[in-house]
Amino acid sequence: MSSPVIGVFALQGDVREHLAALRAAGAEAVPVRRPSELAAVDGLVVPGGESTTMSRLASVFELLEPVRSRIAEGLPVYGSCAGMIMLASTVLDGRADQQSFGGIDMVVRRNAFGRQVDSFETELEFRGVDGAPVHAVFIRAPWVEGTGPDVEVLARVSGGPADGRIVAVRQGNLLATSFHPELTGDLRVHGLFVEMVRRELGSGSTADERPIEEAVR
Ligand code: GLN
Repeated sequence: MSSPVIGVFALQGDVREHLAALRAAGAEAVPVRRPSELAAVDGLVVPGGESTTMSRLASVFELLEPVRSRIAEGLPVYGSCAGMIMLASTVLDGRADQQSFGGIDMVVRRNAFGRQVDSFETELEFRGVDGAPVHAVFIRAPWVEGTGPDVEVLARVSGGPADGRIVAVRQGNLLATSFHPELTGDLRVHGLFVEMVRRELGSGSTADERPIEEAVR
């Protein structure tokens, strides 16, 4: 099977790390900075960075509406950290003029873990990722404060002051994590996303009929 082409939203953020992780997980990965580049991808990753800046640049580079339309058409998109914020229907503690792509019916709070634990690392049980817990790196991360009925919770923090907080979700073809799997060398979350893109591309013809959890083992 040929590799799916997955774009990384490349106006701001840790673009290089996502390109590398996607290539290692079996995709052809390309930076996306203009609408014509967006039109050519089978999936999109919105990286970690700063969602207020990303929001402003998306508007300046005329990518806000094109990304929203492709999401509405079913484009698989994975957002990590600032990328999670960009996929949220509602953002708390954002800038007043901050805009998101939306797509996931959830309330996300920016910089939610507070100053004491601005950045931290922990192990997470991650639904759909088999094997050892996922080592998760959080950097001024958001958490999910509320989810709509179509949102599947994939991971929650276990223990500590943020015990039980939702940090990974999926709604249809949209995946979001509060943390940064692109920084750890663990390819399983990117592998899950590449598999989601393959499924969307293959729906019908060459589709692998195994549950997605088995297919990414
Ligand atoms: N705090 C950032 C924001 O609000 C997100 C941080 C990150 O992506 N590491 O966009």
